[in-house]
Amino acid sequence: RISVGFATCGISVGGDDVFKTFKEKIYERKLNNLELCKTGCIGFCGEEPLVNIKMPGKSIVVLHRVTPNDVDDILQKIENETYEFHKAFFKIDDWDHVTSKIHYGDGYENIPKWNEIKFFKPTKRVVLRNSGIINPEDIDEYIAVGGYRSLYKVIKSMTPDEIIEEVKKSGLRGRGGAGFPTGLKWEFAKKEQSDVKYVICNADEGDPGAYMNRNEMESDPHMIIEGMIIGAYATGATEGIIYIRAEYPLAVERFKKAINDAKKYGLLGEKILGSNFNFDIIVTEGAGAFVCGEETALIASVEGEIGRPRLKPPYPAQKGLWGKPTNINNVETWSNVPVIIAKGGDWFSKLGTQKSPGTKVFSLVGKVKNVGLVEVELGTTIDRIVNYIGNDGVNNGKIKAVQTGGPSGGCIPENLFNTPIDYEHLAAVGSIMGSGGIVVMDDDTCMVDTAKYFLDFSIDESCGKCVSCREGLKHMHDILDDITKGKATFEDIDTLKELAQTVKVTSLCGLGKTASNPVLTTLKYFYKEYEEHVKHKR
Ligand code: SF4
Repeated sequence: RISVGFATCGISVGGDDVFKTFKEKIYERKLNNLELCKTGCIGFCGEEPLVNIKMPGKSIVVLHRVTPNDVDDILQKIENETYEFHKAFFKIDDWDHVTSKIHYGDGYENIPKWNEIKFFKPTKRVVLRNSGIINPEDIDEYIAVGGYRSLYKVIKSMTPDEIIEEVKKSGLRGRGGAGFPTGLKWEFAKKEQSDVKYVICNADEGDPGAYMNRNEMESDPHMIIEGMIIGAYATGATEGIIYIRAEYPLAVERFKKAINDAKKYGLLGEKILGSNFNFDIIVTEGAGAFVCGEETALIASVEGEIGRPRLKPPYPAQKGLWGKPTNINNVETWSNVPVIIAKGGDWFSKLGTQKSPGTKVFSLVGKVKNVGLVEVELGTTIDRIVNYIGNDGVNNGKIKAVQTGGPSGGCIPENLFNTPIDYEHLAAVGSIMGSGGIVVMDDDTCMVDTAKYFLDFSIDESCGKCVSCREGLKHMHDILDDITKGKATFEDIDTLKELAQTVKVTSLCGLGKTASNPVLTTLKYFYKEYEEHVKHKR
């Protein structure tokens, strides 16, 4: 079997041409026993197009940076049974799946195992357990690695209260950024009495540099759907919505196919798995507004209104979509649910830290050698992610800072890289986890420019409802602009700081409350750079 990495990262560097060439050459060579299929993203996006070769009785060998010109050579080696692929990168002979452990057999003595490579070694694959291995367009492959067993378990043997208890025990917190305990959120929704309740998957990922959710959806859509069905069963919801950005067409397509296939298998729709539980999911595409990631704005958008946040309470669990109780979780939160049911809340709670259990997928981008998605236990240090995973264990001395949490995250300097990544520690250094973007910056990056760049993004995406966010951010941007042009004074820097603090405490929603973070953290950790602009008038 040959599987080609067919998530957006693979396709963008020619994975579709590689796939097409394999198809043509397999036909030409009459290799009828070879199965060619698509797979998702294994995480190492910087090495795409990745191609998995699985021969009977042998491990999976993963080839990297494959081009259409390599195809003949690969097929020739398969025909000759020599298997000495010159672009062999690593092998997978024992993938520690959460729901099932598959032994792939032996072979390829000289090729390193996946977890001997620094990029993968410190990782723990829970959410990415199937990514880059199974075909995301084939429900049977998801089922073959243990998919939908958790759904079967809850329908056949668990009450909604028992499910909620298990999720509470796991300590899972919302992976969209706020970190609210998921089990508690479900409990609030379940307690509400209503003829109709909703669950929503928030797939409106829009942070610059962040694409974890996109790959999770493109690589393993059934995992998310299974989590949603379990959540609906636990909270008493009958309708589900996946709210996804329209800029993710492949994820939309895969979700739609996955929903149809799940219906054909009796896993969605009426009388799920022969029970009295009815639940269906539809896909709704967003219109490109970042603020619609905020749950009340998201609800307004689904209702056809302008996507603007509103005051809480009432919370969506009490009065959400169409005024009915609604439970919203993000893509990665839903992804963790089937695993928690399969392995138990206790198992999950032992991963990560006491206050932030489990793993988190981060997109590691910017000035690092190894760009891609890394899933690590919460509590892993920034140093481990940036220098070990991102730079093959080499501290090149040029890295200056990382920005975590998207446009409203803070910039953390290199001397704080021993900070463990979890909700509390990131807040303590002035940043946030957000949905999981990590942008690495080196000595060539001007931190004042960086703050201006992120502020620019927040201004564009502000809905304009509150004065502090609408006007304050613009005023801050004007001052930053003056600073970078050498036209500002030290008093202007003081005004900038005061404004940033005011916007933080007076804005209505998360966007405004956190938009000042890049400014406040660069002022705190990189004040010298502001000083230099002012002093040297440049
Ligand atoms: Fe809109 Fe900004 Fe106010 Fe949020 S803080 S509601 S984005 S104006």
